[in-house]
Amino acid sequence: MHQTRRFAAALGTVALVCAGCTTAGTVGLQAASPSTAAVSASADPSAASSQSGSASRAGATSPAASPAQAAAALPLAGKTVGIDPGHDGGNFNDPAFINTLIWNGRAPETCDTTGTQTAGGYTEAQFNFNVATYLRADLLAAGARVVMTRHSNQGVGPCVTTRAQIINRARADVAIDIHADGGPAYGRGFTVLEPVADGPNNKVIRASIGFGNDVRAAMLAYTSMPESTYYGFGGVIERDDLAGLNLTTVPKILIECGNMPSATDAALLTSPAFQRLLARAFTAAIVAFLTGRPIPKG
Ligand code: ZN
Repeated sequence: MHQTRRFAAALGTVALVCAGCTTAGTVGLQAASPSTAAVSASADPSAASSQSGSASRAGATSPAASPAQAAAALPLAGKTVGIDPGHDGGNFNDPAFINTLIWNGRAPETCDTTGTQTAGGYTEAQFNFNVATYLRADLLAAGARVVMTRHSNQGVGPCVTTRAQIINRARADVAIDIHADGGPAYGRGFTVLEPVADGPNNKVIRASIGFGNDVRAAMLAYTSMPESTYYGFGGVIERDDLAGLNLTTVPKILIECGNMPSATDAALLTSPAFQRLLARAFTAAIVAFLTGRPIPKG
């Protein structure tokens, strides 16, 4: 979920706004830390996935492989990919920090938010981090250099401005912000959030929209998650109020992978198998965007 606090300077008030979501303000800071069950169900995949990534790379770069084989096995060699897993598990414990106002390029926005969660208490922060970890492993196996904006789900932040800086300074060839939405319980599906030109991102709007098209196509090819039934149109929406999109200088989109309050979506989003499938879809989209290869059927 990507909610923002919009600062009403003239009125001196702060309102919590959650676009595409009817639960604005209700999931912000009241949620307790994830339950033990939720934590155990969302085991950190980093250890296993990093091992598989190393093994794949070792195999792909064996001396026996021809240059053509190596190129086929490592389609992202020489490329840098940024991954921003939205929110952080520790954000629930430090409202003073995450409510600090930053400038998002157009207006004040809070440093970060807690994100949403399922009815069962599985947090979006954990989901985002799990998918990011699987994606990182897949990208490493494909030969990419990967830059993450956070490396655990126990920290606080960083602020959305810092996340944009990390990816910009890495000169990533493309980047993806991973989220899940907190929309109405009756609503389903994913939405790709695309940037709107505001100065810093002017040069990457067209590329970002192209990458968004690849991500949308890969989601439909690889997963059973439908286009959102309540947010955006055809699984896509433009957003001009998010630092992560406003301040980017590399091609980038944000994806709400599904709607956590929906019981149907929640069953998928909390499944490690589905989280791995999302990583495969994003990898296919990134390979398509950076190499021109078509997105294969999942
Ligand atoms: Zn979010």
